[in-house]
Amino acid sequence: MTERRHTKIEVLAVGSELLTPFHLDTNSLFLTRHLNRLGMQVSFKTVVGDKPDDLASCIRIASERSDLILIMGGLGPTQDDMTRETLAATMGKRLIFRETLWEQIQDRFRKRGISISEVNRKQAYVIEGSVPLENPNGTAPGSWLESGGRTFVLLPGPPREIQPMFLSLVLPRLQEKREGFQVRKTLKIAGLTESKTEDLISDLYPGIGPDIDLTVLASPGQIEVHLTAFSSLSEEAAKKKLTRPVEAMAERLGENIFTQAEEELEAVIGKLLRGNQYTLATAESCTGGLLSHRITNVPGSSAYFLEGVQSYSNQAKTRLLDVPASLLEKHGAVSPQVAAAMAENIRTNSGATFGLGITGIAGPTGGTEEKPVGLVYIALAGMGNTQTEKNLFLGDRETIKQRSTQKALDMLRRRLLRSLRDQREEE
Ligand code: AMP
Ligand code: MG
Repeated sequence: MTERRHTKIEVLAVGSELLTPFHLDTNSLFLTRHLNRLGMQVSFKTVVGDKPDDLASCIRIASERSDLILIMGGLGPTQDDMTRETLAATMGKRLIFRETLWEQIQDRFRKRGISISEVNRKQAYVIEGSVPLENPNGTAPGSWLESGGRTFVLLPGPPREIQPMFLSLVLPRLQEKREGFQVRKTLKIAGLTESKTEDLISDLYPGIGPDIDLTVLASPGQIEVHLTAFSSLSEEAAKKKLTRPVEAMAERLGENIFTQAEEELEAVIGKLLRGNQYTLATAESCTGGLLSHRITNVPGSSAYFLEGVQSYSNQAKTRLLDVPASLLEKHGAVSPQVAAAMAENIRTNSGATFGLGITGIAGPTGGTEEKPVGLVYIALAGMGNTQTEKNLFLGDRETIKQRSTQKALDMLRRRLLRSLRDQREEE
């Protein structure tokens, strides 16, 4: 059997803003994720500004080296949006006015109760021989053009327009070009360093098989192990290849894994709290509300999150959390005693099952030899006891805040898992 030639894929992001320090081409990440699932690899990514000559030269280069060229951005009604016109000119195609498209665009404006402008007319032109791709979330239609053995797909720039259009109209057409099935499993870990994670699992690497790709990614307070399998036959076959390696890793890493389902730590503790009808309240100092922000990022968090107090000053700790001034004076605001008082008092005041308290020094200034930057005390009060942990976090201010909230959520998660285990043993 002869090896099938892989489709060479190129992604072209059009927009002058993408060449400034302020905007990043994120659409290509979305496209790549979905192409990879079809076993297709992206060979080139190009970012080009809204200059027809530059875009034309990118299109010429792409059509020499690539089979499938996805071009996004620059389909809007304004003068700088020239992608459709430039592709037509470069490929030597005419633009044809489509009355039905013009009707659809006008209709969209009518529904929103705003008057249409003549400049929108240019969005009703399609490249001869192309198939327009309807855009229910905006005025700019996309298009699918096969020309000279190449496939060009034109897509709008705004993420909320390109994503539904790609999923509903482009992906099904790409199925015929699919080269296989790629499946990925992510093990998300909290409470371990990258090197500790490696120590636990690295001896398994040689055994996981040649067609499985493994990467370990670290971010503040979180390690992710990504396992990717490929099959030319089916998604099931790719999934099957992952089963044993994932099991082996999960056995080694145990409760350090907080999810295998691509969710955030705050969503995991949310489920645990909710499932047991427990509630939570937080008292924060150096994290400035980041902990309650993360908790409330989860839809439905009102079912278990009662309140969060952000007590930055000593006075606030006394006034809002009844932390005795004498305690603050004796041990300092950054102390295990104050962290414990914050957690216990927010729990009592709110009537929640659990209270979390965080106090520390996020830096870059304010550290002393005795209490350095990155010293953070975190306390968890509930179910008859208070657990307080001393942490020495590294990193800049934002990283220390992130690590602190991660640690607090993980303390709660482990506490909840322990209580579930105890319950099960009692039964
Ligand atoms: P356009 O289709 O060029 O009018 O793009 C409209 C908006 O979509 C731009 O202002 C950007 O904010 C956004 N956008 C365009 N291209 C991209 C891209 N490659 N990644 C992320 N956002 C984009
Ligand atoms: Mg643009």
